[in-house]
Amino acid sequence: MTLYLYNTAHRKKEEFVPMVPGKVGMYVCGPTVYDFAHIGNARPVVVFDVLARLLRHLGYDLTYVRNITDVEDKIIEAAARNGESIEALTTRTTEAYHEDMAALNALPPDLEPRATQHIDGMIRMIAKLIEKGHAYEAEGHVLFDVTSMADYGKLSGRNREEMIEGARVEVAPYKKDPADFVLWKPSTSDMPGWDSPFGRGRPGWHIECSVMSEATLGVTFDIHGGGRDLIFPHHENEVAQSCCAHDGAPFARYWVHNGFLMVNGKKMSKSLGNFRTVQDVLMDATGEAVRLCMLKTHYRKPLNWTDYGLDQASTEISKLYVILKDFDQVDKGPLKPNPDVVRALCNDLDTHAAFLKIQDLGKQLRHETNKAEQSRIKGQLIASGQLMGLLEQTWQDYFQKRDTLRLYENAWEVRISDEEFTIKPIPEPSIQNLIEQRNKAKAEKNYPKADEIRDQLKSHGILLEDGPGGTTWKRA
Ligand SMILES: [Zn+2]
Repeated sequence: MTLYLYNTAHRKKEEFVPMVPGKVGMYVCGPTVYDFAHIGNARPVVVFDVLARLLRHLGYDLTYVRNITDVEDKIIEAAARNGESIEALTTRTTEAYHEDMAALNALPPDLEPRATQHIDGMIRMIAKLIEKGHAYEAEGHVLFDVTSMADYGKLSGRNREEMIEGARVEVAPYKKDPADFVLWKPSTSDMPGWDSPFGRGRPGWHIECSVMSEATLGVTFDIHGGGRDLIFPHHENEVAQSCCAHDGAPFARYWVHNGFLMVNGKKMSKSLGNFRTVQDVLMDATGEAVRLCMLKTHYRKPLNWTDYGLDQASTEISKLYVILKDFDQVDKGPLKPNPDVVRALCNDLDTHAAFLKIQDLGKQLRHETNKAEQSRIKGQLIASGQLMGLLEQTWQDYFQKRDTLRLYENAWEVRISDEEFTIKPIPEPSIQNLIEQRNKAKAEKNYPKADEIRDQLKSHGILLEDGPGGTTWKRA
């Protein structure tokens, strides 16, 4: 099946043809590790994880690279603010990032270069840019001379005034042109720094990705991804550095950018109080529901994050697991994704349409009476879900996790069928789970919580009796 991707470089959807038949190199800008990942950081990870899964399904030998930016001014500032060492901060936040992304079912990239491992390459590229007349030294800095590149601004399609405005270029008297950007900057003795022909210092952010992508995928490679907020200045500057260092050789062939993420219709920011880390949302929903909530909106559209949307995604994913539970006795047929799901994903990663088809498969399975057909549809349903990083666990594991999360929302009692909600008796594992939670609350002397759990069980017709041997229960 032919894959079409919207290429920001040409402002249109294009057939994807890799540079080397059968092989694909993809580079996605990774996190700057100075704080916990927020849901805006997670969106590209989930989007490009689906693209990686799709490329592999289509038979490509994919090398997926996502970097770690572990030297950057935000890191220096955060370490000073927290009173911890830079190494402790970057190690801690990198580990948290890996855990958070794994919770969202995002597979790790094949290669994960760290900026601090590529400083020599950055120094070499900067020296080359100076030698070729594209960069200059000024007061301990090295700056890229944007006037040396006729095409500068082409990727983002910005004119000069917009670029100066968009780059929020600080006024620096040593710059020849206000749009020139930093390749290398001097470090004071208390800052991380490396010796170089331009003095002791550290790289600018943009040069890091130019060097790490070349080191892992070569001068020219197939796909470069990231959030659309990176188009300018980050990606524009990557193009400038890489093309000028290699005498105009092409850099990334397809530029793929995901849209912004908003919370309740507003830009997410700490000052607005609508800031959500991945860990925050994982308190309210399973990683699979968070993932689905992201994928229900096409990746290029703005994603409006709401509690309602997350609840809805949770319900939708639960419905599919209920169906898998109800058809537990049916053997799953060959794990082949449904062709309509693959077709939707090949159409510029239309995850919205793909999920509608997956829901449709669930409905088909529910109404199918022929055993062989049930088996075939079940295989398709699971394989289609997995292509999007969904339905990868057993229904038992899914409900166990969900019930623990949604202790106070009576989520287990809702058995969702296509047309109706029917109340089922609360299952025994959930009762045991609640009793354990209550014992824990009692041990912590949190009696209101313990009482609340007892009342909650009572509302399900479960009566507790505390005795010397522990707590027993009976149905009323
Ligand atoms: Zn980057």
